[in-house]
Amino acid sequence: MGNFAAVPPPAERRLALRVTPEAQRALRQGHPWLFDRAIVSQSAAGQPGDLAVIFDERRRFLAIGLYDPISPIRVRVLQQGAPATIDAAFFVARVQAAAARRAELASSDTTGYRLVHGEGDGLSGLVVDRYARALVLKLYSAAWLPHLAAVLAGLAQAAPADAVVLRLSRTLQRQPAALHGLADGATLAGTLAANPVIFRENGLRFEADLLHGQKTGFFLDQRDNRARVEGLAAGRETLNVFAYTGGFSLYAARGGAPAVVSLDSSAPALAAAGRNFQLNRGLPAVAAARHQLLVEDAFAGLARLAQAGRRFHLAVVDPPAFAKQQSEILAALHSYERLAALALETVRPGGVLVMASCSSRVSAEDFFAAVRRGAARARRRLHEFAHTGHPVDHPIGLAEGAYLKCLYAVVDE
Ligand code: SAH
Repeated sequence: MGNFAAVPPPAERRLALRVTPEAQRALRQGHPWLFDRAIVSQSAAGQPGDLAVIFDERRRFLAIGLYDPISPIRVRVLQQGAPATIDAAFFVARVQAAAARRAELASSDTTGYRLVHGEGDGLSGLVVDRYARALVLKLYSAAWLPHLAAVLAGLAQAAPADAVVLRLSRTLQRQPAALHGLADGATLAGTLAANPVIFRENGLRFEADLLHGQKTGFFLDQRDNRARVEGLAAGRETLNVFAYTGGFSLYAARGGAPAVVSLDSSAPALAAAGRNFQLNRGLPAVAAARHQLLVEDAFAGLARLAQAGRRFHLAVVDPPAFAKQQSEILAALHSYERLAALALETVRPGGVLVMASCSSRVSAEDFFAAVRRGAARARRRLHEFAHTGHPVDHPIGLAEGAYLKCLYAVVDE
């Protein structure tokens, strides 16, 4: 039994909302968010997690979703078009459907993946990641709290686990009054016997710190790009910038890179990267690869490596989101350009550059263009051979949700 006894059960009341014509259009097109400013009238004040029914001006049903009085995303839409009964069975079914879409992923070779990806799985504001026998449930809205029991029931059926750990978005952590005593890192069900948890991704073993790690402990969204990098790494000295816990580094090593440099500004993340190499020493290619850890700022570190004459055959650059809001987009594009130019200084002729962006506010085309400007600045020519997006366990539920893009290019001259 989880420690969320103080959380109120779902309320019986339903709120009725009328919204602007613009919002009606967006909802009809399947947009899963209703913003506070789009509400024209509301039948009563609501509590987090109340069910809100949205009507058009002819009083026809448009959508139903979870009400959040604190967030500008006032309603997180669960169902649009045809009315639905939103009860425990509804949530159980949604969770089961999400799990079924990942059936192909769930194997002994990959035990870490995203089980529920919010809007992409019709469960806006809810994320569930699996790490071996543990689940991390991450909430982006207090509206989910009254429905947690139903979600947990769905998970118990679709993905039985030894423990379910709660993580809260930063916004939610700042709303203690709405949390009914629940805190980031709380155990909702079962027992987390050990943390970090060891899981597998494509046969490689990794640790993930479910309680303190970034995201829910690992960047599960980069699995396909990491696998692709493995295929490019044979015989190539590899530089992994923004390495975090060494995901790309290990794949490169298994793929036959004789030497791998992992660069990140976080010493604890790189310490974990070192441990992750140890976990996979049983693989001859991993044991044979030299692995160097550099705790450094990426910009400064790249400039220093270039100056020192270090050159690589493969460079992976996977920075954090540079643009978290609209006003930061231009600065972010500039940073991508500068990073690409700096990274290219360290890439040998004939080498490969792999560069990703996870800024949802930067479009794929703008990002690729920034990388190209960086190449021009570094006087290097890129032969782009792949642009990739989301993996199957991170389905895109709304245009703004398409945050991940990655460019692959052979670099000449
Ligand atoms: N490629 C990783 C995920 C990268 S996440 C993977 O596949 O798992 C972004 C990383 O950038 C984090 O580890 C963070 O510590 C690091 N970081 C953020 N700002 C940085 C900076 N200025 N210089 C170097 N590393 C930075």
